[in-house]
Amino acid sequence: MSALAAPAAGRQRWAASDAEALNRLYAGRALDALADVLTDAVFGQVALVSSFGADSAVLLHMVSQICRDVPVLFVETGWLFAETLSYADDLAAHLRLSDVRWLKPDAAFLDAQDPKRLRWSYDPDGCCNLRKVQPLDLALGGFDLWISGRKSHQNRARATLSLFERDGARLKLNPLHDWTSADLTAYSAAHMLPPHPLVAGGYPSIGCSPCTSRVQPGEDPRAGRWRGWDKSECGIHKPSEDAEPVF
Ligand code: SF4
Repeated sequence: MSALAAPAAGRQRWAASDAEALNRLYAGRALDALADVLTDAVFGQVALVSSFGADSAVLLHMVSQICRDVPVLFVETGWLFAETLSYADDLAAHLRLSDVRWLKPDAAFLDAQDPKRLRWSYDPDGCCNLRKVQPLDLALGGFDLWISGRKSHQNRARATLSLFERDGARLKLNPLHDWTSADLTAYSAAHMLPPHPLVAGGYPSIGCSPCTSRVQPGEDPRAGRWRGWDKSECGIHKPSEDAEPVF
């Protein structure tokens, strides 16, 4: 991979031109990009971020076929379904992933900021910031690039996703950015991946229990997330600094 210089010791600061160059280099070759990111030192320290949600098995399986030792960052907010916690354990064992890191918000900080555990009910943005964004930001501090399982079909905010994005000091790789629901279903079937146990119960997108509801036939797959709120993202995925604004 010759589009980039190898990172010097310490943090590599990626430029917008790096993401653009990588998108040109890997156009139509997302799986090659994933393999290179996981094996070429030019990309520096790399982690995969996974929610162990409805679609997570596909990307976790792809990564496990290349490198089972990659750090997998899993944010355990304190509000996840019991089914998600057991699925995370079971799927990691099934795929023989050796470095799944459960990230938890600091307990004393939560006691101070959300003493009654009701913040989700009146300030979901603040709750997501405490329980998801801050723990993940802290954990990502040691990495140069992270891999995300977002898909452009999931909602309007993700419609313009590209393969590589710049995310502050880091790069982000979205290997499934152009995958459809049918692609995911076909891949899962071909590799006999175990489904999240809540999917069959009408949950095509799964987050925290107070903020996830069943989706009716014909609804957007993420319609059950923060239902009734003008909110579709937890804040982990900030708009790319280089993206055109979405109106
Ligand atoms: S999804 Fe809901 S419960 Fe989970 S961190 Fe966000 S607001 Fe809080």
